[in-house]
Amino acid sequence: SELPSDPEPENFTRQVTGACYSRVKPTPVSDPQTLACAKEVAELLGISEQACKSPHFAEVFAGNRLLPGMDPYASCYGGHQFGHWAGQLGDGRAINIGEVINHQGERWMLQLKGAGLTPYSRNADGLAVLRSSLREFLCSEAMFHLGVPTTRALSLVTTGEMVKRDILYNGNAAFEPGAVLCRIAPSFTRFGNFQLFAARGEIAVLKQLLDYTIRTDFPHLGEPSPAVYITWFKEVCISTAELMAHWMRVGFVHGVMNTDNMSVLGLTIDYGPYGWLEGYDPGWTPNITDAEMKRYRFGNQPQIAGWNLARLADALVPLVESVEPLQEAIKVYAATYEKRWRSMIGAKLGFSETLPDDAILIQELLAILPLVETDMTIFYRKLAGIETDSDTTRLSDDLLIAPLLDAYYDLGSLNAAYRNRLASWLRSYINRTQQQGISDTERRARMNAVNPKYVLRNYLAQQAIDKTEAGDSSMIDELLELLRRPYDEQPENEHFAAKRPEWARHRAGCSMLSCSS
Ligand code: AMP
Ligand code: MG
Ligand code: MG
Repeated sequence: SELPSDPEPENFTRQVTGACYSRVKPTPVSDPQTLACAKEVAELLGISEQACKSPHFAEVFAGNRLLPGMDPYASCYGGHQFGHWAGQLGDGRAINIGEVINHQGERWMLQLKGAGLTPYSRNADGLAVLRSSLREFLCSEAMFHLGVPTTRALSLVTTGEMVKRDILYNGNAAFEPGAVLCRIAPSFTRFGNFQLFAARGEIAVLKQLLDYTIRTDFPHLGEPSPAVYITWFKEVCISTAELMAHWMRVGFVHGVMNTDNMSVLGLTIDYGPYGWLEGYDPGWTPNITDAEMKRYRFGNQPQIAGWNLARLADALVPLVESVEPLQEAIKVYAATYEKRWRSMIGAKLGFSETLPDDAILIQELLAILPLVETDMTIFYRKLAGIETDSDTTRLSDDLLIAPLLDAYYDLGSLNAAYRNRLASWLRSYINRTQQQGISDTERRARMNAVNPKYVLRNYLAQQAIDKTEAGDSSMIDELLELLRRPYDEQPENEHFAAKRPEWARHRAGCSMLSCSS
């Protein structure tokens, strides 16, 4: 066939058929500078903290230099975007540069994000801007330290080049500093990888990819067969259910749960316009593009994950003998999520086990929380702090709720009816802990192990971006250090646990974000 006269013809944008990936080299940049490196991720790869500071490191992780044995490629995948089949998407700006088997025998894939055009770049530039790369760097690591399954971030390197975006940024030019993120995971395989081959009827490739995935990422399942395909899918359902319970626990809103952003390993992947709940609002989404439909709002995430799994199941139909076991697995997803959610919310409230009557207590709490703007993170930490000895239920409403007031954005919004309802709930909660004979010490320890004190509040990430763009990147390291111990009291860092300040309520980057990054 005819190829354009491009010196590197493999890089031109196209439909790639009959293949799971395309070889492609990162595009060199003019002035790579390492802004941040996560030392524990470097250690996973056998890279010393010292080595992260070398110019050589910046060269490699900006994509300017390939190490011996690196044979980079971009993956071919499709996906449902906002509920609609979108056809081929693929790694439009992500390039896998190689796998490392570390000293513990773990296999890690290294991927550069923002390293230039690939056959999947469609009409975009293959690049990433500093602000979004910084957000992904910090949030990946914050999630890991929170105990939420996630891809990890090794490094953040600026390119010395400006990148054009269609939005006005900081009210001025549309050019922003570019950056390359290196992220790592055992694999970056998405639901959409399987969907694309099924949609095109490329069943042999579909089978090849699934067999490879099972042998490489799920070796404990044994040799691939139609029965193993079902077991594999069930595992994806279970790990996805666990992931959703974690997101709901910490108040994370992904923002773009398209099927191409769903990892078959149950990892949080593709940090774009994500956000953290500040005021507890199940209807909130940080994604401006989704502001009307709110498909990916906080409270809808578990249901969307189920829908996405059903689309993955559709893709597997050509490989199995009957669809029933796939449908059964979807039911396993719902049941697993339900079970995980119940034990998670029980732990958030400090219970060692959930009792049948707890459903009422939990339902009432979730009805109360969205009534007025209540900071979710602060609320659960303050709830841990209350006294639950027998006398406290006799306190007046106002005295009873006083320890929780820090969680409210506007004390004026707490009218007498609200105060009374919250106080009644607290009395039931205190009774419940007394019935089970849970001591405050034990209850607090349990709660503070699952309710973080420190999360990457949207405005904190934005402050780090503002400072970094102004030439001082120290806040990246400061936040990374803070978020390494999200459950610990850190008296010197109390200000980072505070409610979002008023100025951040409507500031770009602090509340709603666009996909354009
Ligand atoms: P996302 O919504 O970030 O998951 O991206 C959806 C698709 O668009 C994926 O195939 C991405 O690789 C691609 N994409 C996003 N941003 C860019 C970009 N700047 N250049 C090329 N492709 C991109
Ligand atoms: Mg994506
Ligand atoms: Mg993205």
